[in-house]
Amino acid sequence: MSESILRLVDELRASAGPDLDILTDKSDATFQEHAKRWSDIGRKIPAAIILPASEEQIQKTVQWAIKSSVPFVTKSGGHSEWSTIDESGVIIDLSKYSGIDVDPEARKATLKGSILSKQVAVALANAGLFTALGNGNPIGAIPYFLGGGASVTSSITGFGSDQILSARMIDAKGNIVEVTEEKEPDLLWAIRGAGQFFGLVTELVIRGHPLTDLGNDQGVIWLGSFVFPLERANEVSSVMKVLMDDSSKATAGLMMVMAPPPTGKPTLVIAARYTGNPDDAKIAYKSLYDLVPLVANGGPVPIQNTSDGHEALNAKGDYKRFGVVGLRRFDKEGFLKTIDVWTNLITECPDAINTSFNFQWDSRPVKTPPFESAMSLHDIRYWQNNFIWHTDAANRQKVDEFNDESIAIMRGPERSEYADFQNGTRTGPIELRFRGKGKLEKLRMLKKKWDPTGVFTAQLID
Ligand SMILES: Cc1cc2nc3c(=O)[nH]c(=O)nc-3n(C[C@H](O)[C@H](O)[C@H](O)COP(=O)(O)OP(=O)(O)OC[C@H]3O[C@@H](n4cnc5c(N)ncnc54)[C@H](O)[C@@H]3O)c2cc1C
Repeated sequence: MSESILRLVDELRASAGPDLDILTDKSDATFQEHAKRWSDIGRKIPAAIILPASEEQIQKTVQWAIKSSVPFVTKSGGHSEWSTIDESGVIIDLSKYSGIDVDPEARKATLKGSILSKQVAVALANAGLFTALGNGNPIGAIPYFLGGGASVTSSITGFGSDQILSARMIDAKGNIVEVTEEKEPDLLWAIRGAGQFFGLVTELVIRGHPLTDLGNDQGVIWLGSFVFPLERANEVSSVMKVLMDDSSKATAGLMMVMAPPPTGKPTLVIAARYTGNPDDAKIAYKSLYDLVPLVANGGPVPIQNTSDGHEALNAKGDYKRFGVVGLRRFDKEGFLKTIDVWTNLITECPDAINTSFNFQWDSRPVKTPPFESAMSLHDIRYWQNNFIWHTDAANRQKVDEFNDESIAIMRGPERSEYADFQNGTRTGPIELRFRGKGKLEKLRMLKKKWDPTGVFTAQLID
């Protein structure tokens, strides 16, 4: 199979010329570097890695793949489990095509190819703007926006997908489509949340917001952490329950059950944010200070630097995954039960010591945009967001089972109580990712129109 693909790759090489970089030698260090991903879960080795450096080269490559019936996946930042394919196909790796143009007056930015989240945040901040971005600097910004995009500023900006104004997309016939409100309103509706399933987006125009919308003149949010011994989880969770439900103060963050280095001691860490005047954070978190944590620190951080503290999580390799479920409330008793599950996990699988079970909250609701879209999670401001990280392949299934157990506890038996996130999972009932009357039907109808054979994943087909 691979050999016949390699013959087809040679045809692409001949027609595209020497400017198109194509890697086929699996023993070559450059090939190996480009085949790496944030996670080794499900990582495969493709027949070839193609590195187009312009929109024209991307289009030529897609047209070649379609004409030759070669399956392919697109890779931007490589932080999902889906930008990988075995030797029956090829990877279109956008690393060589990247850029951002900010228009400060119009408060928008045009993102190109594999531009990363941190690069977007910095370019916008330099122009006095910010937008909805997530928790990881090296995440490909375009896939983040297309897949919904949960953000540290969701209550001010809405989700990442709510920022999308227009796009240039290569469709399943290899044509470039201008996805605008005027020309393709239904497709625009679809790529705002389900955009990874309709085509290869070469450019995305997104909305920027003035830094003053953060509620201060410095373009900052307050970041802090409160550390408690795990034995105090009961009393800390009781205080957190009140704090999380109090929307009069703009608190948000993660309550994490973990064993941080260097001691590896089971610990409860609250990674907290406060939006507004950073001096008010002390008042907002008074109930936590009053518990006298082992450590309590915090201070204002420029919005573009809010994910700088997470570098250790960004390294490539090992078995990593997020176990995510969107929830309607914080169930304290459930959370305490998940601590037992986590303790059993790290006892039975010591290689999973870096795993943390996390409850994520935002005291304020997600801002709802004035338009409809495929994104359906605006009613969700609580998440169980477990970070799975282990190193022993033999424990792969076991670690997932512990994660599943904790997710099942938190979501409870009532389906109306929980939701799945399309940037986090592609398994399980799809109606938990695209909720609401008629949403899934419309998406399926549009998939039939734009990608009936599943060139860009079989999602929404099967
Ligand atoms: C440490 C970490 C933190 C995260 N934090 C958040 C968060 O706070 N909020 C949130 O919403 N998500 C978060 N995520 C999830 C992340 O946003 C998604 O997995 C995102 O899709 C990753 O994009 P990527 O370019 O890095 O990955 P890739 O694996 O390169 O791409 C992701 C998917 O998009 C497809 N794709 C790539 N480029 C294009 C393109 N140009 N056009 C169409 N499809 C394309 C790929 O084929 C793949 O299916 C986080 C992930 C990690 C690892």
